[in-house]
Amino acid sequence: MGRRKSKRRIRVRPRRTLPKVFQCPRCGSVSVGVSIDRSSGVVHVACSTCGLAADFEYREYLQPVDYYARFLDAYEGAAGA
Ligand SMILES: [Zn+2]
Repeated sequence: MGRRKSKRRIRVRPRRTLPKVFQCPRCGSVSVGVSIDRSSGVVHVACSTCGLAADFEYREYLQPVDYYARFLDAYEGAAGA
């Protein structure tokens, strides 16, 4: 009986991390960051490439992606589409 070489397997445990950078609706680069300021209750969403930015009220049950969705809505609304 041949012994099998035990291969050391590196297990990559995919930790489910929520995306923190999103694509900008204006310039298209993935550099929209969501920063949540719990103390002031303001969520700042801004693109570091073109400077497109918006502030939203902080809600405990919302995820960064939700603010990003609002960011898109606000942009589309402002663009008058
Ligand atoms: Zn941008």
